Amino acid sequence: MSITVTNVSKQFGKFQALKDVNLEINSGELLALLGPSGSGKTTLLRIIAGLETADTGNILFNGEDITERHVRKRQVGFVFQHYALFRHMTVFENIAFGLRVKPRSQRPTNAQITDRVMHLLQMVQLEGLAQRHPSQLSGGQRQRVALARALAVEPQMLLLDEPFGALDARVRQELRQWLRHLHDELHITSIFVTHDQEEALEVADRIVVMNHGQIEQIGTPEEVYDTPANPFVFNFLGSVNLFHGRVTGGEAHVGAMNVAIPGDATVKDANVVGYTRPHELEIQRHRNGSATIEAVVKHITAVGPIVRVGLDPSDGAETIAAEITREKYRELNLQVGESVHVKPKRVQVFWDDYS
Ligand code: ATP
Repeated sequence: MSITVTNVSKQFGKFQALKDVNLEINSGELLALLGPSGSGKTTLLRIIAGLETADTGNILFNGEDITERHVRKRQVGFVFQHYALFRHMTVFENIAFGLRVKPRSQRPTNAQITDRVMHLLQMVQLEGLAQRHPSQLSGGQRQRVALARALAVEPQMLLLDEPFGALDARVRQELRQWLRHLHDELHITSIFVTHDQEEALEVADRIVVMNHGQIEQIGTPEEVYDTPANPFVFNFLGSVNLFHGRVTGGEAHVGAMNVAIPGDATVKDANVVGYTRPHELEIQRHRNGSATIEAVVKHITAVGPIVRVGLDPSDGAETIAAEITREKYRELNLQVGESVHVKPKRVQVFWDDYS
C-alpha cells in the first residue's frame, strides 16, 4: 500500500511539531524517519497511524483520502520501543490476541489461529517458546514477539517507533538485519522511527531526514550519506571535517583546494565552508599534487578494521579527523608527532551563512 502525506502540520500549544510536511511512501518500501529528539518523527508516524490528528493536511492510502478514518480501520500493525506485550499471556496468546478479538464474522477458527501463530513463530524464529510468558524472554525475543503480534492480523502497513531503542548494541544489530530480511520476504510497506543514523543507513530503502518538524532531505542511504542536501544532513549522518574558504573568480578556494561553487554561480565574493567525511581524506607521507594540507599527527586510534587519525593542520585550523584502513595505516607506518600531507578526495561546498 502506498502512503501520501500532503501539507501536514501539527501544533502542540505554541510548539509547532510539524510544518507543512509532504511525503510519498511507495508500496512495499521500508522507510526510516531519522532525526534528532523532538524533530517530529513520532508525531508524523502517529498521524499516519491515526493515533493523532493533523491540524492541516491529508493522509492518503493508495491514493484514497483516509484523513478522517479511525485508527482501527486503517489496518496498521504497530511495534513500539517498550514491547507492550500482555504480561499475563503466553507468547502464543500474545500473538493470537488480534485474531481472537476480531468481529465474529471475520474471526478465524481455533485451528486457523493455531496455524497462523505457529507460522509467525517460525518466521520470527521463536518456535520453541510459544508457552513462555514475556518475563521469561530476553529483550530481543520480546521485540520479535511484538513484531509477530503486529503481523498476525495481516496489516496493510507496519509502523515501528524506535523498535530496537531499548536493546543493547549487539542485539540491536542482530534485529536490524533480521527486520531487513523479514521485510524482503513480506514486502509490507513499513515506516520505522529512529534517531540512530547507522540503523537507518543499514536497514532502510529510503531515509527521511527530519529537523524542527520539517523534512531536510529524502533519499536512499547512499544519497543522504554521500550527497547531503545541506550542512544539517551532512552533520547528522556522520562525522565531518570543515574547511573554511572563499569564493572568488567563480571558484571556491577552500584550504589549498579549488572546488566548484554551490548553487548560485552569480555570487562573486562570499564565504564558504567545505565539508568532507573522515574516510574521504587521504594521508600522504610525501606531498603529491597541489591540493594538500600540511599537518602533524596528533593521535591514532584503531577501531576494528578502521584506524582513526587526528591531525593538526600547520595553518592553525581546526583538528582534522581522518579514517584510513588498517592496511593503509601499516603501509604508511604513521607515528604520533610526525608531519604528513592530507588530501581531501572529495569536498562538498556550502555557503557559510547557511542556517
Ligand atoms: P524523540 O526521538 O525524542 O521521540 P521525535 O522526533 O519523535 O523525538 P516527537 O515525539 O514527534 O519528536 O515530538 C516533537 C515535539 O512535539 C517534541 O518537542 C514534543 O515534546 C512535542 N510533543 C509531542 N507530543 C506532544 C503532546 N501530546 N503534547 C505536547 N507536546 C507534544
